[in-house]
Amino acid sequence: MNTDADPCWSILVVEDEALLAEEVRGRLEGLGHRVVGIADNGAEAIDIARRMRPDLILMDIRIKGELDGIETADLIYGELDIPVVFSTAHSDRDTLQKAQIAGMFGYIVKPWREQDLVMAIRLAMHRHQTLAAARRHHDTDIQSFLEAGIYPVVLCNQQGRIFAANSSTESVFGYPREALAGQPFELLLAEQARGAWHTLREQTFARHAAQQAEGSPTFSAQRRDGQEFPVMVSPACIETSTGPSLCLVIRDLSDAQPSADPVTGLAGRAKFRESLVNALQPPAGRLALLLLDLDHFSEVNDTLGHETGDLLLARAAERMREFAGPHGLLARLGGDEFALVMPGPDGMRAAERTAQRLVEKLSMPFDVDGKLLHIGASIGIATSPDDALTATDLLKFAEQAMYAAKSAGGGRVARFASTMQDSAQKRRVLSDDLHGALQRGEFSLHYQPIVGFDGGQVTKAEALLRWLHPSIGPIPPWEFIPLLEETALIHEVGEWVFDEAAAFAGYIRQRLGRAVRISVNMSAIQLAARNVGAVNWRRKLAALPLPESSVGIEITESVLIKDQQRVKRRLHDFRSHGIAVSIDDFGTGFSSLSYLKTFSIDFLKIDASFIRGIASDENDHALTEAIIVMAHKLGFRTIAEGVETVRQRDILEKMGCDFAQGYLFSRPLPADEFEAYLRASDGRGPVADRPRRG
Ligand code: C2E
Ligand code: CA
Ligand code: CA
Repeated sequence: MNTDADPCWSILVVEDEALLAEEVRGRLEGLGHRVVGIADNGAEAIDIARRMRPDLILMDIRIKGELDGIETADLIYGELDIPVVFSTAHSDRDTLQKAQIAGMFGYIVKPWREQDLVMAIRLAMHRHQTLAAARRHHDTDIQSFLEAGIYPVVLCNQQGRIFAANSSTESVFGYPREALAGQPFELLLAEQARGAWHTLREQTFARHAAQQAEGSPTFSAQRRDGQEFPVMVSPACIETSTGPSLCLVIRDLSDAQPSADPVTGLAGRAKFRESLVNALQPPAGRLALLLLDLDHFSEVNDTLGHETGDLLLARAAERMREFAGPHGLLARLGGDEFALVMPGPDGMRAAERTAQRLVEKLSMPFDVDGKLLHIGASIGIATSPDDALTATDLLKFAEQAMYAAKSAGGGRVARFASTMQDSAQKRRVLSDDLHGALQRGEFSLHYQPIVGFDGGQVTKAEALLRWLHPSIGPIPPWEFIPLLEETALIHEVGEWVFDEAAAFAGYIRQRLGRAVRISVNMSAIQLAARNVGAVNWRRKLAALPLPESSVGIEITESVLIKDQQRVKRRLHDFRSHGIAVSIDDFGTGFSSLSYLKTFSIDFLKIDASFIRGIASDENDHALTEAIIVMAHKLGFRTIAEGVETVRQRDILEKMGCDFAQGYLFSRPLPADEFEAYLRASDGRGPVADRPRRG
């Protein structure tokens, strides 16, 4: 079991077997806790507890000295209010009984497993905090203290009648709060559990009088609709204005919570929101919200079908569940988006650690139906009260952080920063300003030459869109193209790019007597639209007049994965009209070369990230070479992107790459400079640094 979800507690270990004590220390530290000391007898334990004030004590029942563990615990709890978890030998039935009666906050039986220890600590701390909150707030604002927890909490009077309950109780049991008021607590239990409940109630008050704490028995509970489910009830006596009352924290032990998402068994969006709102009610403690979005999930879903997709979601949810812990609230918000709320005093640190581990865990392949599937996750974190106080803001900020993680390449964790608010604000401003930018003539195209290794001729170029914002200045494409896509302006602007590029190709042909094929980038959204197509563009080309071979399109691999039949038809259309098709950024997506074989494709543009490492990284070198060889076998020609050094160029040439593009030859140039560049290269490649063959 993973425990990264747990806060780090300071713990005193009371154990008289030195070797065992050290082992326990190692375990606890391995779980992220801090061991403040080890005592082998009661007097020493009390002394250390007084000086160090640990959050929790792990207490062996049989220890050296006059006091046994139970007596020591009683003294410490009475004086210092520190919760105690007992550890006891299995053979020692009598003591176990005694420990259960003294109960305190829980016990573990030796030899315990790590997960028993983790669970015992979590429950003890939760109970302790609930009790502490109850004492702090007394009954003046009892409701708000009840709402602070994620679990159902019910307050009963001495006769066992309910006088307060939190909204979590409402949603778990299905009764409105008003209906619960005045009802006996048995209402929430299955019939066979009622006897045990009365015993617990009596014992709890008796122990309270004797200043002993209570155990946490399990019961069979019953929802309003009659459905039974197991719960653990942690009782405690608290003083209210009407005298001693029972505070019952109820933990649902069944896996399937009500209103769960059927695919993953996790809470759904509605339930999640409700719980988050509750958890944020004052006096809410600190909490962190992790918003998780799976990377590449839609590609799996689209290629392998929804059934596999659902199985994958369920598997991913299983891995996430290990991180939630008993206080954590995990939910599927929809699609491949999940949320995890982690309460805790050092929320951010624990949250970041958990998020990092989650990302690692989810990047490991999933075996679904015998297929190994690789996905990944991007996580955004926002905390309360630091970043936000309301559920709406917290979700919004965590989402902004999540987008930041995604746009940084995915597979990572981003913490919300107020600059993201600024950038969200900037996005809104830019998005507004994009409307009318085309009409105001703020767009232009730059052209970057693509150089052939075979003779060094510049026979191709890529058109790259530029936006000069009237007050901010040039805005980079990665900032405004997504905005164009969101606002559907991409269609209008995309058509303009095509017209402009085609016209420029015609101009070059006329002025220089040279054929330079200009390719335009086409976003997935454009390709999916109905009214964009080869026929339309061919008509435009025919009107110029210009041979079809003057233009090409560049699309990314991910486009090939969605709606394959339609994309196949479209690409075929383009190609049959002489419009060359390039696959952009190849190697960064999900597809394999053999998959590409079934599409009509002319060129593969090998992503710059491979080229960057080609001279220094064996992997990049080997991969690039393999891509080139395979591409040729499949009848595609290759273009290396982002070639910046002579060494990279030489290596690519040796590998048999067909074309190169990059700063080594030229940056993208405005139309007039590109024309000058072509004239200078005189049809035989760039003057300054001409690629050679052989
Ligand atoms: P892309 O299609 O991968 O374009 C290549 C990018 O690499 C360009 O960035 C180019 O300036 C840059 N580049 C070229 N050579 C080098 C080099 O040697 N080193 C480095 N570090 N970078 C180099 P740019 O112009 O910023 O464009 C970014 C992206 O914006 C493009 O990536 C493309 O996806 C998108 N984009 C640009 N124009 C359009 C357009 O008209 N329509 C659509 N849908 N997307 C466009
Ligand atoms: Ca491109
Ligand atoms: Ca590219």
